[in-house]
Amino acid sequence: DTAMYHAKGRGRGRYELFDAGLRDDEEERLELATAMRRAVGDGELELVYQSRRTCGDRRVTGVEALLRWRHPELGVLAPDVFLPIAERTGRIVELGDWVLRQALADLADLPDERLTLAVNISARQLVSGRLTRTVTRALSESGVDPARLVLEVTETAFSDDPATAHRVLDELKAVGVVIALDDFGTGWSSLQYVRGLPVDVLKVDRTFVADLPGELTASAVVASVLGLGHGMGLTVVAEGVEDEPTLGLLREMGCDEYQGFIDGEPGSLPDVLN
Ligand code: C2E
Ligand code: MG
Ligand code: MG
Ligand code: MG
Repeated sequence: DTAMYHAKGRGRGRYELFDAGLRDDEEERLELATAMRRAVGDGELELVYQSRRTCGDRRVTGVEALLRWRHPELGVLAPDVFLPIAERTGRIVELGDWVLRQALADLADLPDERLTLAVNISARQLVSGRLTRTVTRALSESGVDPARLVLEVTETAFSDDPATAHRVLDELKAVGVVIALDDFGTGWSSLQYVRGLPVDVLKVDRTFVADLPGELTASAVVASVLGLGHGMGLTVVAEGVEDEPTLGLLREMGCDEYQGFIDGEPGSLPDVLN
């Protein structure tokens, strides 16, 4: 029951990969786009969580919400299967609203009021024209302090309409939420560009973290993100930490926090907080 479908050729590590039942063609994408129309209303969406911890003493500082679609016939679908389709059809805005509401409601149920909640925001959602209103409303409905909400955006969010993306981030900062740049290092934006954005957290992409122990170029990238990120007063988080040697190295390098399968796979909130 833990099997999860990824898009063909994607996904790695401990996920099992299944192709059967998913045809990688236009017909399949159309079927998924149609099925997605009822996914929200029929309660087929689910959130799993991953803890974020300090590199030093591995204390939990927060959680990241990760979206899953429990398709009635196909099983559990990973975001790489359906998010690109949701982006193209515009359905991502509705999905994103649901994620924000659900994740904040889950967080509001927790006894520990210091934990932060990170929610991923897609490029299209960021420039949809309604994100700030949705975030403000979801925050007031849940009663969660805005400072506990981290919105994760990727560099690609700035490639289409950088001016709008920047303006929306400024609006969100004014609401009091925390902004993180996800998958950092994979895009084209320079640290000089980041300097002009209202960003608080850099998340080093897991492709660099995965290659860290052996590869000189990977550790050079991580070291430079740490140096310049810290120089700008930002918190640096390493994604995709899978083993102790990697975590040890990150700790030595002065990385602030990490996430990864080293603490188990994403799961329910109570499970990942243990
Ligand atoms: P992301 O935000 O960078 O999330 C990290 C991804 O890496 C997650 O995959 C997570 O399960 C996986 N991961 C975490 N630790 C490890 C590790 O140690 N090793 C390996 N191999 N993988 C690890 P997932 O859940 O499949 O999500 C993929 C991407 O989909 C996310 O990347 C994010 O960009 C997007 N996404 C997920 N949920 C949402 C959502 O609610 N809204 C939007 N717009 N995007 C989402
Ligand atoms: Mg993320
Ligand atoms: Mg990431
Ligand atoms: Mg990613």
